[in-house]
Amino acid sequence: QTSSSSDSVVVIGLGRFGGSVADSLVRLGHEVLGIDENAEVVQKWADTLTHVVQADSTSSEVLRQLGVGEFRRAVVGIGTDIEASVLSVLALEELGVRDIWAKAISYKHGRILERIGAHHVVYPEAAMGERVAHLVTGKMIDFIAFDDGFAIAKTQAPKEAWGATLSESALRSKYGVTVVGVKRGRADFTYAQAGTIVEAGDILIVSGTTEQVERFAALT
Ligand code: ADP
Repeated sequence: QTSSSSDSVVVIGLGRFGGSVADSLVRLGHEVLGIDENAEVVQKWADTLTHVVQADSTSSEVLRQLGVGEFRRAVVGIGTDIEASVLSVLALEELGVRDIWAKAISYKHGRILERIGAHHVVYPEAAMGERVAHLVTGKMIDFIAFDDGFAIAKTQAPKEAWGATLSESALRSKYGVTVVGVKRGRADFTYAQAGTIVEAGDILIVSGTTEQVERFAALT
């Protein structure tokens, strides 16, 4: 039986997404109980995860017998089979797991998962698609959007900021973005301050609403 310290996590469905989550959790030092109905998948993860069990996660009785009710956290990585995804979240909810994360493959799927008790719904493909769209246009070097419409981006410093301090270029009042960090050449990022001078070729980390950040990155 798996010990269930607050650090251990159940990961259900060890496909591309669930497998990656489980693998990263192990590397971060957490104990992971992996569950998948596919024997080959279970075999594949047997040496990496703390415990791996071949079982159908749609049954709360099966999950109860595996001790899943003792865990505080669970991640459901099943996506393609929406019925299995929904039933697995429901089973976790019935067992009283307090922190349920689930992957959704569409907005409607996500709505259902939220309704039946998932505490966090993630849309890995939609989120990565949006991110790649920003990167592929070449304006942003990196981009992360949070689900409340707030974003952080890594972008080239626009020309109008060159040779001036951040307080002089007043980017926040003009564009609504806050410069968080500045990087020059190979030096490490430094935290931005009012007196930080930006030069041509500098890279900025900026935060703001998604629209503000997009508008700012388009200046470069
Ligand atoms: P991905 O796109 O991330 O690979 P999939 O939805 O294709 O996600 O993979 C889901 C994984 O979940 C597969 O390994 C599959 O065997 C497993 N799975 C699907 N249904 C169940 C179930 N009822 N119980 C346990 N594991 C399941």
